Amino acid sequence: MRRKLAAGNWKMNGTQARLDVLDALNAAHVSTPCDIVICPPAHLLIPAAKACATGAVEIGAQDTHTAAKGAFTGDISAEMIADSGASHVIVGHSERREGYGETDATVCAKAIAAHAVRLTAIVCIGESLAEREAGSALDVIAAQLQGSVPEGSTGDNVVVAYEPIWAIGTGKIPTMAQIGEVHAQLRQDLIARFGPEIGGAIRLLYGGSVKPGNASEIFAVPDVDGALVGGASLAAADFTPIITALADS
Ligand code: PEP
Repeated sequence: MRRKLAAGNWKMNGTQARLDVLDALNAAHVSTPCDIVICPPAHLLIPAAKACATGAVEIGAQDTHTAAKGAFTGDISAEMIADSGASHVIVGHSERREGYGETDATVCAKAIAAHAVRLTAIVCIGESLAEREAGSALDVIAAQLQGSVPEGSTGDNVVVAYEPIWAIGTGKIPTMAQIGEVHAQLRQDLIARFGPEIGGAIRLLYGGSVKPGNASEIFAVPDVDGALVGGASLAAADFTPIITALADS
């Protein structure tokens, strides 16, 4: 049985004033049957982890360098993320793949760096609109899964987030049949590669314009174990109903 996961990606949004959202989430979800992870910008990792020390919410970073330390101005290492009190890190978000030229190999190396310090890697994959329209979405996603998820992955140290690029921040979402088709293939491929126990334990999130109004429908799709949420994770009033929908699914 996979435990459900609601993960929020704040991207480059939020100053210390936004830590109030964490207090509200911790107060609203004291005995939730779901895991909740918020990934704030790097400068908030330490205060966010402190704010959640006794609450249900766990903290994740939005990216990591592949190296443990060194001359990489502006970057943050997995060891630093773990040192902040965070437990998760997003790797391979499409905004990193597209904006910084990250390849599957880079993403895989980042996940390996995360594993070295016992962080759970939330590995993002997903097709572009052109790839969806060309009918190659399933092939693209299969290749990304194979190339981005490292050997040694387990249900504890990896979460896969399927995020069609064209659905992120656009208000558009795939049909439930399309989400179901992708998640079924991901599950099949994970089981083929890692075996039924590990492949069946790795959680699969859907991401892309998840809102309170569409969450229940998405969470009813087989093999959707939760969501990676951008915009709607910035306010407790939006994220709480999504978490509740997940808990009820
Ligand atoms: C994301 O950034 O991963 C995301 C899914 O964003 P949004 O929910 O705003 O589409």
